Amino acid sequence: MARQPVVQETRKEDREVDAALRPRWMHEVIGQKAVKQRLSIVLNSCKKLKESLPHILFDGPPGLGKTTFATVLPNELGTSVQLTSGPALSKPADLLPFLTNAEEGSFLFIDEIHRMPRVVEEFIYPAMEDFRVDIILGEGMNARTLSMPLKRFTLVGATTRSGMLSGPMRDRFKIQEHLEFYSVDELAEIVRINAAKLQTPIEPAAALEIARRSRGTPRIANARLTWTRHYATSESDGRITLELAQAALDMAEVDREGLDKQDRRYLETLIGVFEGGPTGCEALAATMSISADTLSDEVEPYLLREQFIVRSPRGRVATMKAYQLLGRVPKKKSAEATEPQKSLFDDLESS
Ligand code: ADP
Repeated sequence: MARQPVVQETRKEDREVDAALRPRWMHEVIGQKAVKQRLSIVLNSCKKLKESLPHILFDGPPGLGKTTFATVLPNELGTSVQLTSGPALSKPADLLPFLTNAEEGSFLFIDEIHRMPRVVEEFIYPAMEDFRVDIILGEGMNARTLSMPLKRFTLVGATTRSGMLSGPMRDRFKIQEHLEFYSVDELAEIVRINAAKLQTPIEPAAALEIARRSRGTPRIANARLTWTRHYATSESDGRITLELAQAALDMAEVDREGLDKQDRRYLETLIGVFEGGPTGCEALAATMSISADTLSDEVEPYLLREQFIVRSPRGRVATMKAYQLLGRVPKKKSAEATEPQKSLFDDLESS
């Protein structure tokens, strides 16, 4: 199902902001301490050994820094990076120019790598393992394989759905890192740094308020900072105070928990239409007229983390916290299904 235009528009603006505010060096990357430490070790070692970095897979919800790491690492090594994405690579020929253009030690970043077709995936295996591609010339009886050597490059894959990646593909990444949501303090630091980059004075309490209401995600913090900056400039002298930040975020319909309209619509649909669940993601998506991918990649991870919903083998279930947020009282059936500590966590999916 097509995404709603309003979502696409926001994403385009967000992407432009992301590009302007993206850290360029490792020391500018905030949070993700353990990931940073491990990557810095490999980075140092490869510099000393004069080797290319092993292939790296990043997984985690959108906006947590996968592309950031994929651009910081080549910067640190003084090498280049080519950027593409799984859906843009529909056949092996689409990938070939990236592989043949790759310089010794350079990076190739494939976003949404789980959406790369199987035929492209199989084409990339020898490139990752032996730095060669096998091109089949001719057809039928006359077909022959031409093996072409490549320069040693580093493939960085990013995915919001590591479960959708095939086993053989995943095994070829020698480094695999999962990115987690950020703490409020880490996000507040990102907001302060980015406000300074935008030459916008901001009160520490205002930075904290934006951080608290950014769903643990730097990309959302950037978008909310940008909106608050517009608001403060239009309604006052441009300086972001706590009062202005609160008013701006209230106006953008971001609630005190940091949930936005889409989050609340999700919970209202789950509770109002499906009596709190359990219900499948597809049914929720169809009722909300939104793509199931958007729901499971962008909306659900944070609602799960904050325990507004849980996943059971029979589908999504609203928790008491969700009922309380919406000021609703569970009906008997869903009250049983969602009674927090007793039954909820008994039948969670392992994922
Ligand atoms: P992803 O590729 O996971 O969707 P990005 O790397 O594009 O996410 O991150 C979105 C934006 O969030 C970046 O442009 C950057 O401004 C900010 N950001 C992400 N991670 C960090 C971080 N660790 N420190 C500082 N800013 C970050």
